[in-house]
Amino acid sequence: MTQHVMVLGGGVIGLSCAFELKRRGFAVTVLEMGKCGGQASGAAAGMLAPYSENVEEPDPFFRLCLQSLLLYPEWQLAVKEASGLDFEYSATGSLYVMYHEADMLAMKSRKLWQDEHDAASELLDSAELRKLEPFIAPEAIGALRYPGESHVYAPGYVKALEEACRRTGVSIRDGLERIDITRWRDGVEVQAASTGETYRGDTLVVSNGAWAGLMESVFGMAIPIYPIRGQICAYETPDMPVRHMVFCSQGYVVGKRNGTLVCGASEDIAGFETTVTRRGIARLESWNGKLFPFLGGMRPFHEWAGLRPATQDGFPLLGRLSVSDSVLFAAGHYRNGILLSPATAAVVADLLEERVAPGLPLQAFNPERFSL
Ligand SMILES: Cc1cc2nc3c(=O)[nH]c(=O)nc-3n(C[C@H](O)[C@H](O)[C@H](O)COP(=O)(O)OP(=O)(O)OC[C@H]3O[C@@H](n4cnc5c(N)ncnc54)[C@H](O)[C@@H]3O)c2cc1C
Repeated sequence: MTQHVMVLGGGVIGLSCAFELKRRGFAVTVLEMGKCGGQASGAAAGMLAPYSENVEEPDPFFRLCLQSLLLYPEWQLAVKEASGLDFEYSATGSLYVMYHEADMLAMKSRKLWQDEHDAASELLDSAELRKLEPFIAPEAIGALRYPGESHVYAPGYVKALEEACRRTGVSIRDGLERIDITRWRDGVEVQAASTGETYRGDTLVVSNGAWAGLMESVFGMAIPIYPIRGQICAYETPDMPVRHMVFCSQGYVVGKRNGTLVCGASEDIAGFETTVTRRGIARLESWNGKLFPFLGGMRPFHEWAGLRPATQDGFPLLGRLSVSDSVLFAAGHYRNGILLSPATAAVVADLLEERVAPGLPLQAFNPERFSL
């Protein structure tokens, strides 16, 4: 009999799991309290940057990120084909900019271990950097270039994922406002408070991002997932003066094909508040001008914020609960949920098919690790 999977949350993680599970023959229902893609996923910069984002060591999180980057070329084509929608996927590569000679040592040690994991990175001096990014600040003394990093236009990607789900037969129930989980051992039963409807299935995938931390009393375990607000802004730059994703220690700038330059992002604690503050955006503006002086005289035309699902140890909660065969977690992807969406979907589908993806240290992501 076909297994029926209920996916809680219609962000990039829930939709990716739903799409992959449907492709593998499961019956799938997505339950979304608001609008699919309406939270962190639609707010993201869309960078697929495992090397720039993981600078310390090749830990299990880095390995999951890298695996996901490798899945992206085929995955994004599958989403485009199934949805009939195009979205930007740009293999621009990235530059991590340095301002001080002292940064060089850290870059060299980062390069050493990352090149063992196919980064193929390149240390650029000031002249080489200027050739690639002519408008970079004169204070920049060089950069580490990662040719394999890429980015998507996140709102377009998430919209296409939702459409791919709908077209392939995933049932999407959105606008449900509040959802009560009334059974989760030996089958799943969920009630939507707003409509009074009850949904039943065999398995529940908990993929409700920053809100997963509110479910400790439901599952009787520690779920240390917290919302970390990211404030972010965009400039109108129709001439597309920035060619790569450009990082520095204080933020990043990424040029989109639609002629906007997305610059982010703050990391502050504001509960579930998604407003932007003048202070938060002013800090971004100041750093943007230090990276690209032409931005110093401009004001962003768009400012927004989203809630990253952060976890206590920085790793997502990804895997089955030992106390119930009916529940899997896929939450807490913090700064890298867009990047991690295909790998997360593959892991969830593999687990439900009783397969284990080779080479992935899944024990590190055990969702019950904070209660052991
Ligand atoms: C400013 C910013 C920039 C970012 N840039 C990048 C980037 O460049 N690259 C990258 O990889 N990542 C980036 N991220 C991180 C990325 O956006 C997140 O890791 C990712 O979106 C998390 O996806 P999610 O599906 O877990 O969460 P969300 O997108 O937040 O989705 C969770 C969904 O669950 C729903 N929900 C909540 N509770 C319930 C419930 N009880 N029942 C039903 N539904 C519920 C919510 O309404 C929401 O739609 C960025 C994030 C921010 C904020």
